[in-house]
This record gives sequence, structure tokens and C-alpha cells, in this order.
Amino acid sequence: RDARLTPTKVEVYSKSSDDRHQRSFRLLQDFDNALKSNDQLSLVFQPRVNLANDRCIGAEVLLRWQHPVLGSISPGEFAPIIEQSPYITKMTAWVVDAALRQSSLWKASGIHIPLSVNISAANLEEVDFVQKIVLALLRHGIVPEMLELEVTESAIMKNAANCLAKLSALSEGGIRLSIDDFGTGYSSLSYLQKLPTTVVKIDQSFIHDLNLGHRQRNLVHSMIKLSQDLGYQVVAEGVETLEVADILKTMGCDDAQGYLFAKPLRPAEFESWFWSDRGTVYRPLKAIS
Ligand code: C2E
Ligand code: MG
Ligand code: MG
Ligand code: MG
Repeated sequence: RDARLTPTKVEVYSKSSDDRHQRSFRLLQDFDNALKSNDQLSLVFQPRVNLANDRCIGAEVLLRWQHPVLGSISPGEFAPIIEQSPYITKMTAWVVDAALRQSSLWKASGIHIPLSVNISAANLEEVDFVQKIVLALLRHGIVPEMLELEVTESAIMKNAANCLAKLSALSEGGIRLSIDDFGTGYSSLSYLQKLPTTVVKIDQSFIHDLNLGHRQRNLVHSMIKLSQDLGYQVVAEGVETLEVADILKTMGCDDAQGYLFAKPLRPAEFESWFWSDRGTVYRPLKAIS
């Protein structure tokens, strides 16, 4: 053991961990302002494409935060912090409201696709969550079938019994439900069979290097088969190359999302993407450039 190194290591570690805590604390503090201001939070939309006919069949709603001092903060950083605080209720309400407002604008202009909103485990603990969703749909004049809620597999496993009750109520109300980041949350197969969810989104960590080896390929193929046998519609997340899209197609995967088709887009960008050839018939990126 080199004793001289130990204090330095400890110091470096605790300093950076301290910085992280300070930043988390700041983000949490400033999020209230972000919710109140009307220019810090915004939504982007990533198309979901059917692999068999290349049509855009929906879009995922993703939150963006432009902090006045710290600049753009990734939801990968702030969502987990907000999710552990009471602000998660307001954050989800904000996203649902803004998404449904967009949905109603798009409906009027002929873009009639379901939008998928990410929700967190804490939302399912709210006693009036289902009512709030139903009221938001009514307020915006959107039918429940046009809203999908994405819940991560690990969020479901956190409080399985409560989740099942809440998800059933949402599903009975006609709202679509999907299991996000599938494959990363260790759900039991017997439990998966009981969920009122209709869509499984295979996590991008399984999809990225799909072209690299047999084992990875067999694993994904099994995940697709299993999910479909249980009656799920399967979406592959993080499809970046034509090669991966082709493999997924061969495996019978239903739908896909990823940079190959489009990055998350601002509303105006989404509209031009949708009305261009790629909205209904996507062209591989290679052929465009
Ligand atoms: P997620 O729900 O699994 O969303 C997918 C993430 O993958 C998005 O990152 C998306 O931009 C990214 N992505 C899509 N296609 C590709 C691809 O081909 N390659 C790669 N490398 N990435 C791709 P984003 O927008 O940074 O969001 C990260 C996570 O933050 C989301 O993961 C979700 O868990 C959370 N999040 C985002 N918006 C919200 C929200 O409104 N509410 C909640 N509760 N969480 C949100
Ligand atoms: Mg998602
Ligand atoms: Mg995901
Ligand atoms: Mg994720």
C-alpha cells in the first residue's frame, strides 16, 4: 500500500463528489424557477417508425432545460434529481400539458400520431395521478389513445403492486402504456405477463452493438420473440445504422427509434421531417448524403 497516495485520492474523490452534490442541489433549487418561467423548459419529439412499412407511427416527447446560467442541462442529469424530489409531480404535469397542447395543434394540421411521455415511479405514487391525466386529456380535447405513458422497467419493479393498480386504471381509461429501457430492470417474466402494458421498448444498450456478435443478436432476438409472444408490440431504441435496422427487421421487430430515422426534433423541425418523404417513407441516411 502506498500511504502517500491515499489522502490525495480521498481528497480528490470527496471534492468532486461535493461538487456534484452542490450542482444537484442548485439544479433542484432552480427547477422551480424553470417551471415558472416560460422560456427555460421545452419539448423535443423523436419519431417512432414502423420497420415493416417505414411509416412514422408516433413520437416520444423528451424534455429539454435551458438553464439561464449553466446552459443546456441534459435530462439524463436533471431527471434523476427531480425524480427524487416533490418537483417530479409538477415536472410531469408540465410535460403532459405541453405535449397535449402540441398534440392538439398537430391534430388540427393533420399530424395525428400518439405521443409518448416519460413518467417516473414517483408519479405512480400520486393518489390522483390517473384523474390528472384524464383531466388533462379532456382539457386539450385529446382522446386517450393518442397518449402513451412510458414507465421504465426499474420504476415498475420498485413498487410492483401499486404500479399494477395504477397502470390498470390508466389502461382501462384507454391510455397506452409502454415499458421503457426494457432489459435493464430485472423484471420477472411472470410479472411481465400480468402488466396491462402494450409496448416494450428494448433498451438502446442492447441495440447499439447488435451487429457485433451472435450472442448479442440471439439475446435481442429472444427478447423480441418473448415480448411478442406475451402480446407486446416491440420498439427498438437507439437504432443508429441501417445495418442494425435491417437485422431488427429480419427478427420481426415491430418499430424503432433512433438517430438513423431522426434525432429528437423541435416542433417545426418535426413538421418538416413528417411532411418530407421521411415522415411516411424514411430514406436511409447514407442515401441522402
Ligand atoms: P429514454 O426515455 O430512454 O429516452 C431515450 C433517450 O435516448 C433520449 O435521450 C434520446 O435522445 C436518446 N436517443 C434516441 N435515439 C438515440 C440514438 O440513436 N442513439 C443514442 N445514443 N441516443 C438516442 P434524452 O432526451 O437525453 O433523455 C434521456 C433520459 O431522460 C430519457 O431516457 C428519460 O429517462 C429521461 N427523460 C427525458 N425527458 C423526460 C421527461 O419528460 N420526463 C421524465 N420523467 N424523464 C425524461
Ligand atoms: Mg422513454
Ligand atoms: Mg429508453
Ligand atoms: Mg433511458
